[in-house]
Amino acid sequence: MIPYGKHYLDEDDIESVVKVLREGRLTQGPKVAEFEQAVADYTGATFAVAVSSGTAGLHLACIAAGITSGCHVYTTANTFVASANSILYAGGQPNFCDIDPETLNMSTGYLEEKLQSTRKLDGIIPVHFAGLPCDMVKICEIADSYDAPVIEDAAHAFGATYPEGGRVGNCQYSDMTVFSLHPVKGVTSGEGGVITTNNEKIYRKLLRLRSHGICKGNFDLPGVSVADSDVLYYPDDALYDGKLNPWYYEMQELGFNYRLTDFQSALVLSQLKKAEPFLARRKEIAAMYDELFEGVDSITVKQKHDRYNTSLHLYVLEIDFEKVGRARGQVMRDLFEKNIGTQVHYIPVPFQPYYAKLGFKREDYPVTQSYYNKALSIPIYYGLTDDQVKFVADEIIDIVLA
Ligand SMILES: *Cc1c(COP(=O)(O)O)cnc(C)c1O
Repeated sequence: MIPYGKHYLDEDDIESVVKVLREGRLTQGPKVAEFEQAVADYTGATFAVAVSSGTAGLHLACIAAGITSGCHVYTTANTFVASANSILYAGGQPNFCDIDPETLNMSTGYLEEKLQSTRKLDGIIPVHFAGLPCDMVKICEIADSYDAPVIEDAAHAFGATYPEGGRVGNCQYSDMTVFSLHPVKGVTSGEGGVITTNNEKIYRKLLRLRSHGICKGNFDLPGVSVADSDVLYYPDDALYDGKLNPWYYEMQELGFNYRLTDFQSALVLSQLKKAEPFLARRKEIAAMYDELFEGVDSITVKQKHDRYNTSLHLYVLEIDFEKVGRARGQVMRDLFEKNIGTQVHYIPVPFQPYYAKLGFKREDYPVTQSYYNKALSIPIYYGLTDDQVKFVADEIIDIVLA
């Protein structure tokens, strides 16, 4: 079976997990800090905070950005439900942008038009769809004019770069960037996520929120100065002889248990060493597909204009199913019969029953609707061979043009 996406594990990955299991530290330990430092180094951000999932990361990022009841936050209609759900978790009001038909990312023109009538913006969560970076310069400009925070949902974009230079995650254009470490994403820890930021106050808040809102004064954190937010409320109880009492901790705000474990961190640390070959192989596969689908009637390759900056999390086609006279469900089943897995990214979030009940209407997202009608994601992952790429493209062309 050739799935649409798949993780890649080698013996080094397995060895590094087993080593941690043998040493006996099962929950948060030294590997977490090592992983966080590696992510900061890789992306170019000052700080990184590992969490239990990308969704947990988005939730904490929304809280740390000050999103709360009454806040209007915009994301894209073409994303996984988690991008919008995180706004609701924090008590905010999600709003959706229609997409740009070429990039499939949120349309900044749509956002500007919406804002002309509502004039309400308390945050933006751009999603780098399939790994292609959004127009962050423009998004930043809009956010700045409302003094609104920006949280990048970079679940698809580990390893991607901005056209202006720099790696996604460096937070040059945002307050925080959130990555997912789910097996289908760029590098994996099983379940997991990581948030990057350049803001020390946000960094410290994220550390507390990840572990029940508990603060121990953070005397143990390397290379950070004492920020107001980490001052202990009851120093007389906390300290003996200038040192933290062994039992002492303060719950200073309402947090969660969103910690990543040490053995998960060991896995993703080992995966990180392969980030460059992972990306390079995806680019090779995309280049092959681009050529194989060139000039095929009724099939349009999406995001082809920029194969340089994208992390190519997904390879997305638009197929005019109406024109070829075959239902997408049938095409997907026919491909499945040939052991080829495909997927649709995404059912637009405002179309979901839960969001429809909140009042969102399909008609407000015509470009997303048109893309959704034709979308098909086809297999792309590190372990996919050249022969499999040719096989997949041939079968798709055969079935679609049959
Ligand atoms: C995968 C994904 C998430 C959630 O990540 P998890 O680690 O699965 O919680 C969020 N946003 C987008 C766009 C995703 O694809």
